Amino acid sequence: MKGIGKLTIITGPMYSGKTTELLSFAEIYELGRKKILIFKPAIDTRYSKDDVVTHKMFKMPARVVGKAQEILEYYESLEEKPDAIFVDEVHFFDGNLTKVLKTITLDGVDVYCAGLDMSYLWEPFDVTAQLMSIADEVIKKKAVCEVCGEYNATLSYKTRANGGVLDVGGKEKYIAVCKECYQKIRKEEGH
Ligand code: ADP
Ligand code: MG
Ligand code: ZN
Repeated sequence: MKGIGKLTIITGPMYSGKTTELLSFAEIYELGRKKILIFKPAIDTRYSKDDVVTHKMFKMPARVVGKAQEILEYYESLEEKPDAIFVDEVHFFDGNLTKVLKTITLDGVDVYCAGLDMSYLWEPFDVTAQLMSIADEVIKKKAVCEVCGEYNATLSYKTRANGGVLDVGGKEKYIAVCKECYQKIRKEEGH
């Protein structure tokens, strides 16, 4: 009998290298001539409509899905099952994602996912928190604080605070900051 697949989650603030690490795991499977599948949510169209792309513009083709359940439906429709699946930007998905990914690991498939742990309000994203609970391995990344320059940024700061917590954007909207700088900026802005 095939064993149960391993669930890994890569998390942290924006620009912390989550997508880079996700794709480097994908590359390892490809180098080993394993079959892989990459998914991303339809909402993330920052660099490309149907690729997962890092901020350094490294990319791999992905299947775009609107809802978590579509990942399972697509998986079940496949005649040849993959050895591993990869899901980027998990914080954009609905609460079914945890169940869907657990089901896929029960079928013997390794699952790697990546996404933000917190919103720009320093509050957890539920989907990521759930995945961190059930994961076999949690990889917490950090970025360089764009205010003080230290490699200790764990938060994403929204420079234009409109559009809500699920608001896609890049450097024009978000910067990575450490907690000290986050508090300083928030105070300066009167929060
Ligand atoms: P994530 O998916 O976590 O947003 P990516 O893997 O797409 O991150 O991109 C990581 C890359 O972003 C780094 O290799 C680096 O070139 C770039 N980058 C830009 N700003 C920063 C920052 N403040 N800290 C670290 N890396 C940054
Ligand atoms: Mg990313
Ligand atoms: Zn800082």
